[in-house]
Amino acid sequence: MFNLDNFIRRAVKKLVPYRVPNVNCVLKLDAMENPYNLPEDILLEVIKEIKELKFNRYPDPMCSDLKKIISSNYQIPEEWVIIGNGSDELILNLLLAFGRNENKILYPYPTFEVYGIIAKMLGLKTEEIPLEKNFKLNSQKFIDYEEDSIIFISYPNNPTGNCFSQEAIYRIIEESNSLVVIDEAYFGFSDKTFLLDVQRYPNLIISRTFSKMFSLASLRVGFLCANPGIINVLLKVKLPYNVNSFSQIVSKVVLSKNSYFKKKTEEIIEERERIYCFLQNVEGITAYPSEANFILFKVENNQADYVYEKLIKKGILIRSFKNISPISDCLRISMGTKEENDIFQEKLSQILSKAH
Ligand code: PMP
Repeated sequence: MFNLDNFIRRAVKKLVPYRVPNVNCVLKLDAMENPYNLPEDILLEVIKEIKELKFNRYPDPMCSDLKKIISSNYQIPEEWVIIGNGSDELILNLLLAFGRNENKILYPYPTFEVYGIIAKMLGLKTEEIPLEKNFKLNSQKFIDYEEDSIIFISYPNNPTGNCFSQEAIYRIIEESNSLVVIDEAYFGFSDKTFLLDVQRYPNLIISRTFSKMFSLASLRVGFLCANPGIINVLLKVKLPYNVNSFSQIVSKVVLSKNSYFKKKTEEIIEERERIYCFLQNVEGITAYPSEANFILFKVENNQADYVYEKLIKKGILIRSFKNISPISDCLRISMGTKEENDIFQEKLSQILSKAH
C-alpha cells in the first residue's frame, strides 16, 4: 500500500515548515525590511522600463545587465559575481554545491537561522559555535574545528546587530582552511565590508542583498562575490531562470539611484541611534549596540513575552526569541520611519509603566 512516509527524505522528516507570525499589525517592525517604499520618481522610471519588458520571454539566465552594473559599482569583475533569487537562494546553492556529508557547516549562535535550516534540509552536519559575552566571536573555536568546513558569518550579525572584530574574521579566513561566507546583508548600515578581500583569499565568499538598503525585499534579489573558481561551481547548481525579468529591471534602476538610497540609509542609521539611546534609558531594558537596521534588547524580570504580546495588542509587531536560549529574554525591533519609531517608544513606555 502507498505510504507517503516511505518517500520523505530522512533529513526532511525532522524539519518544521518555516513560518512567520500571521498577525495583523499596523506597524510591522519584525523583519528588518526597509521602512521606505520606492518613491514616485523611481516608480515612474520602473514603469517606463516595464513597458519594454517582454513578458512572454524567459528572463536573462545570467542577469548580464544587472551583473555589469554590480561589477562597475563595486569594482568586482563580472565573472566574480552570481545573482540569486534573494540571498537565501544563494545560501541554498552554496550548500548544494559545496556541502559534503563528511564536512560540517559552522556558524555562530545565535545568528541568521537560514544557514542552519538549509544545511539541515540537505541532511548536512551543523555545529553552532556559541557567541561569547557581548556577542563576541571566538575565532579560535572556528579554527580548531576540522578543516574543510563551510563557515557562515553574518556581518553585522542578525539578530545581535554587532559586527564581529575584523581581526577575528581575518584569522578565521586565513587559518581555518575552510570556505568562509561573510553575509553582508546589512552592509549599508555598517559601512564595513570584506568585499575587496575576495581578490586576496581564494576561500572567501561575500553575500549581499537588495532586500534591506535598496527596499526590494518583495522582489527577492541578492548576489555573491567570489573568485571565478567558486562562481563556476555555483553556476552548475543554479536553476536556469532563477531571477525574474521584473526583479532584474527594478534592481538595475535602484542601483542607479545610489544617492537617494544613501540618504535614506543615513536617516535609518540616525533613527537607530535615537532609539538605542531611548532604550538604554528605559528602566528594565538593556539595549545592545547595533550596526544594522535593527536593535536587540533585553527585557528584565522575564517580561519579554509580556512586552511582545502587549505590543501586538497595540498594533506593533516586533520579533521575539522565546525559543532561542541565550537570548530568550530579548526582543528585536527593526527600524521604522521616525513616526513609526515614535509610536513604538510611546507604546513601550506605556506597557512598561504598567508592568512595574
Ligand atoms: N542574510 C541575513 C543575515 C539576513 O538577516 C537575511 C534576511 N533577514 C538574509 C540574508 C536574507 O536576505 P534575502 O532577502 O536576500 O533572501
